[in-house]
Order: sequence, then C-alpha cells, then structure tokens
Amino acid sequence: MSASGDNSAAQFPPWPITDDAIRRAMEALLADGSWGRYHGPHCEQLIAGLQTACNVEHVHLCSSGTTAVELALRAAGVKPDDEVILAAYDYKANFVNVLTLQAQPVLIDTQPDRPVMDADRIEAAITEKTKAILCSHLHGCFAPIEKIRSIADAHQLTVIEDACQMSGGLINGRPSGTIGHLGTFSFGGSKLLTAGRGGAVITSDAVLAQRIKVHTHRGNDAYPLSEMQAAVLNVQLQQLADRTAQRQQAALQFLDVLSRAPDLLPACDPHTWSSTHRPGLYKLALIWQGPAADNRDTFCRAARSASVALDPGFAALHRIHAQRRFRAVGELRFAEQLHDRLMILHHPLLLRPHDEVGAAATRLLGLTGDD
Ligand SMILES: *Cc1c(COP(=O)(O)O)cnc(C)c1O
Repeated sequence: MSASGDNSAAQFPPWPITDDAIRRAMEALLADGSWGRYHGPHCEQLIAGLQTACNVEHVHLCSSGTTAVELALRAAGVKPDDEVILAAYDYKANFVNVLTLQAQPVLIDTQPDRPVMDADRIEAAITEKTKAILCSHLHGCFAPIEKIRSIADAHQLTVIEDACQMSGGLINGRPSGTIGHLGTFSFGGSKLLTAGRGGAVITSDAVLAQRIKVHTHRGNDAYPLSEMQAAVLNVQLQQLADRTAQRQQAALQFLDVLSRAPDLLPACDPHTWSSTHRPGLYKLALIWQGPAADNRDTFCRAARSASVALDPGFAALHRIHAQRRFRAVGELRFAEQLHDRLMILHHPLLLRPHDEVGAAATRLLGLTGDD
C-alpha cells in the first residue's frame, strides 16, 4: 500500500506495464463494443488459453483469487465443523475463507526459513474431521506439493494448491496449480497476470468442476470476470513464459549480489531452478538474519528510501487471530520466525534492465554494511 502512497521521492518500477499489446487490446474492446457486454470472445479465449497453458480440463473464471480459494473449498465439500489444514504462515484471506465456510483452520508449521508448509507435519494434524489441505506457493518458494498430494490421496483428502503468487511456475515440468486436485490463481492489481481484479479455479476433476458451477450459476454468474478483464489477461498470458524466464534471470542476478550479505538469507534456492522447474516470481523472499526483529522493519524502511520495494512479509496466522478461531498442531516455531524476519521484494524490478537490477541489489547490499 505504501508503495503508491508515499513514494514521491523514491522511484519504484511501475506496475502494471502498459505496453503496445495492452493498448491494442484496449482499442479493440472500444472498437467492437465488447468492453460493455456480458458475453463475448475474450472470456472464452482466456479459458482456452489457461486450459492449454495448464493442461487442465476445467477452468472457472471468477472475481478474485480470494473467491477462487473459496470456490475451491466449496468444491472440496468443506462443510461447517470440518477441518482444513494450512500453514501458520499463509495469506490471511485463506484462513478467513475457511472460517467463512464455518470450518476450522488447523495450523501446522512451515519449513525452517521457508514460507511454505512442512509436509512432514500433515499426518499428525489429520482427524476424522479433516476435509482438505490448503497450501500456497509463496514468495518464489514452492510448497512441497507433490508430497502433499500423495499424503492427501492416502487419506482421501482434497488438496487446494494456491498458485495466486505463482502464475507461470513449473514444478518438475508441471504447471503450478495443477498438482493439487484444485488450483487457484489471482489476477489482482499487483499480480503477475493482472486485470486489477479477477481470479480462476482450475481442476481436471469433473465432479469438483460441477460443484463450482452449481454454486456460482444462479441464472447469471455470481462471481464474474468481465470481458474487459479477460481481454487484457489474454495479452499477458501470451507474454507470461518470456516474462517468467526474464524474472528468473533477474532474481539470480539480484540474489548473487546479495550472497555477500550474511544478514539477508534468500528463502528460495535459485540454483535449483531450470527451464522446467522454476517459480513464478510475484515476490522474492529474504529472511532477515540480523539481531532483533525490530531491525527487519527498519531495514525495509531504509530499502524503500533507497528505492528498493522491499517490505515486511505476512503476519503469521496464529499471531493475528484469536486462539479459539483455529487449532494449532505442534509448535509453530518456524512460522513465528517468519513473522518476525521475512521480507519480500516486489516483482516489477525483475523485468527491468540488467544494470538497474544490479544497481538496486547493490544499494540494498550497501544498507547492510557488508559491501
Ligand atoms: C493475492 C493472493 C490471493 C488472493 O487474491 P485476490 O485476487 O487479491 O483476492 C490468495 N492467495 C495468495 C497466496 C495471494 O497472494
């Protein structure tokens, strides 16, 4: 929020990018009138594009990533008093979505220094009431989704793979969002594919897809995505593979400079990335290794003054919700550390020219006193 609020002095790379392809799409919307119609070719084209890009059968477009997760929970058959397992460090709306369905969030710890679920803690959290596992790929880190899926299958649970931060990612050759029974995407104003608002749920399971349809179709579509949104998303979907590769290169360059700063530990390991195993980089997480938690926030403020869009990460879920709202399984020690220490770099820098990325990393290194 402060990114747009108080950056009169600092210069941050803009987002979204209005390029010629977007301009042409906007002009075409004006020319054929589809900007104001309920139905037209653009949503159909987006559905087909996502089906192809993700190699899935069913794509349901909707109004946000948050509604996408809600619809996925409904498709999973989550009912009042059911339990849904999620990591104690996750997107707040995921936790609230579980409550919206009057179900119980069950929080387990993350991996050490990585903002994703520790799959080894799932089995201890499963009860007769468990219906689903909701896991997010966050800040450039892959959730251990293959392992989570196999544990879920052994216990007949449904996996919702939140890929809202991972559009364009590949996990051992498979698109992120397609390894869970259901996958979700966000097209919100800061996201990698953006239409200001919007989202999608994907699945290859016809029964799950049908439940989403039954819930949303009320003579009209209750959580719609418009033709206007779809038109600009179609353009970006075509650019996505190239941009993902470009961000991957820039992240490597950025983290390479910061490898000289012992106080800034990257949460992901870019040396494991390849053309078939690579994250969508919506945010890039660094873990503050300096002495006190306070210093993390001070460091982020200094970074912003130096025109690097670095911010504190999410608050851990168990820290911001009353204890009666959730059940915690085991210690949440690593999520607690992420609450105090995680920082996220916003993605627009990663599409900037090589020297600009290098200069930003060098300014950040300078702030640590390790250059
Ligand atoms: C952004 C985001 C969402 C929700 O998307 P909106 O379109 O903003 O509702 C859900 N999960 C994660 C991990 C996100 O980053």
